Amino acid sequence: MKTNHSFYIDLAVYILLAVALAVQTSCGKSSEGDKASADKNSKSIFAMNTYVTVTAYGDNAENALISAEDKIKSLESMWSVTDENSEIYAINHSEGQSAEVSAETAELLDFSLEMHERTDGAFDISLYPVLTAWGFTTEEYRVPGDEELAQLLGNTGVEKILLNDRTVQVPAGMQIDLGAVGKGYAGDLVAEDLKKNGVESALIDLGGNIQTVGTKPDGGNWKVGIRSPFGEGNFAVLEIGECAVVTSGGYERYFVQDGKTYWHILDPETGKPAESGIASVSVIGSEGRLCDALSTSLFVMGLDKAAELWKNSDDFEMIIVTSEGEIYITEGIEDDFSLSENFSEPKVSVIRR
Ligand code: ADP
Ligand code: MG
Repeated sequence: MKTNHSFYIDLAVYILLAVALAVQTSCGKSSEGDKASADKNSKSIFAMNTYVTVTAYGDNAENALISAEDKIKSLESMWSVTDENSEIYAINHSEGQSAEVSAETAELLDFSLEMHERTDGAFDISLYPVLTAWGFTTEEYRVPGDEELAQLLGNTGVEKILLNDRTVQVPAGMQIDLGAVGKGYAGDLVAEDLKKNGVESALIDLGGNIQTVGTKPDGGNWKVGIRSPFGEGNFAVLEIGECAVVTSGGYERYFVQDGKTYWHILDPETGKPAESGIASVSVIGSEGRLCDALSTSLFVMGLDKAAELWKNSDDFEMIIVTSEGEIYITEGIEDDFSLSENFSEPKVSVIRR
């Protein structure tokens, strides 16, 4: 039987736990609050090659969504690789001449160059001609030969990009593509726009890339499903506050030839689909653009290098699923992560500092 004494120890532990949960700040996560549930408004559009759904709550939601849609469309028209009027198209067809870009594009280019350094070259926005050679841009898939790849790689290398304020110069023959970071940055900018328009609670879903504003309207955390790279629904649920959650995986765009699978995330060193033993990476952090850039580059880097980068950083957490189906999560999200019921089988290892 329990003594009074041990009861009070238990109580003290519970209170400590409750306080610990309440002050937890990862991605602005908060404990359950009592904000009244508010009007829900939703808008879905096809943009940036994917379905984008913005759900906003509260009195200002309806007008804010109109502005959010305009924002997404305007970003898409700047960053599209195929739209002949886009800023990226102009850069890619500049034949070595300098081009003027918007403040948002300049900021994203600058950030992309920084991420190239930070990931030791794994993040590379100059791979577009290589991606085209594999047919990922047209869906006319093929496996390019080693000679062809070597030749194409001669024209890549972001260190050849000159960026000065809003003026950018890319050498003739190089073509850039912000596909690995644009949706993440769009999430940041749409979240900012929603807030500017008075929204305190919203969820932006850019083809599975999640960005939230505030908490749920009732003050509780958002529950985000993490998709299984093996095509069996969500394998886990993550509870987050104001945050971005971005996933990259080989299963998103791929083709199979002679029994081998080729996917759309390339190793900048070889020009071939990155085979690092990772099936999917989810990155969690307060900046969507960082999460997006990292989800792609950690996939290229593999588990060990990804863990090392995480240990030397303080601005993201991650969930990695290996090709063997093992799950690794970083300690910052340990308490927010739970396996889905039908996925309680695999072992989850926690990566610690
Ligand atoms: P998705 O856009 O499918 O959600 P990602 O964010 O991982 O997934 O971006 C993949 C896209 O990024 C590819 O389609 C290609 O345009 C581009 N890409 C491929 N490999 C790299 C790389 N190593 N660095 C930067 N961008 C890449
Ligand atoms: Mg990405």
